[in-house]
Amino acid sequence: MEMVVEARFDAVGGWFAVLGWVGLVFIVLAVAEIVWDRLTGARPKLAETGANIVIAAVGEALNRTAYGLIFVVALFLAEPFALLDIPMTWWSWLLAILAADLSYYWMHRWEHEVRVLWSYHSVHHSSPEFNLTTAYRLAWAEGLVEWVFFLPMVVLGFDPVQTLVAILVVVLYQTWIHTTKVGRLGWLEGVLNTPSAHRVHHGSDDRYLDRNYGGILMLWDRMFGTYQAEEDPVTFGITQPLNSANPLVINFHEIVAIARDCLGARRLSDIAGYVFGRPGWRPPER
Ligand SMILES: [Zn+2]
Ligand SMILES: [Zn+2]
Repeated sequence: MEMVVEARFDAVGGWFAVLGWVGLVFIVLAVAEIVWDRLTGARPKLAETGANIVIAAVGEALNRTAYGLIFVVALFLAEPFALLDIPMTWWSWLLAILAADLSYYWMHRWEHEVRVLWSYHSVHHSSPEFNLTTAYRLAWAEGLVEWVFFLPMVVLGFDPVQTLVAILVVVLYQTWIHTTKVGRLGWLEGVLNTPSAHRVHHGSDDRYLDRNYGGILMLWDRMFGTYQAEEDPVTFGITQPLNSANPLVINFHEIVAIARDCLGARRLSDIAGYVFGRPGWRPPER
């Protein structure tokens, strides 16, 4: 079994090599941006950037071990339930990336609309700063959950390894859009996810909340009614600022808040609301 899985990874080894190099370029760009900001006198809070780097290092260690294993095992366990047998050809790569992007849209939307999912995704949104290192500020817990949203691709018939690569493409694409240094990009706005579109996504202003969920394509947001163009300047962060750059506080503040709300709940239905309702849900006045 192990041999078979290894051989299947080898078959797409070229993809992993390319993604690795692209990832490296993004890291170089992120470091260059920090240096540039220091030299030009823009004074981003170094504590926030430092927190992003610590969170990224721990997350990367988890992704390369336990979470990577969970993802691979889950996708391969779903394979026997595949409805179709989609071959790996150039067109199926296009379809796989498209399917991963659509899966990502819904995963991301639910991560904003269901509080227990928001408890980890809010990590990515909790910084009042917005630079390339923000892209790497991803919750330590997300790898425990996110594989679930990509099982439908394998059940539909995409190869598990192809599915995994497609997910990586969708995630890696989103690195470069975490910057304030690129303005609006003409006709690409509303088609692709751009720095401008993603600044809106990170906005805590009323008009910008819960907008622009797409990974690569903004077309999903246009289709499902969640697109918002960047108009007024964006206030980055979450509606209730954290005021902490401690990676532990950043990672676990919302799950602690949910636990506290549940402990104070009077009814079971209130607990359901606190866990599965929208972030900010409160029991109706009685
Ligand atoms: Zn988000
Ligand atoms: Zn982001």
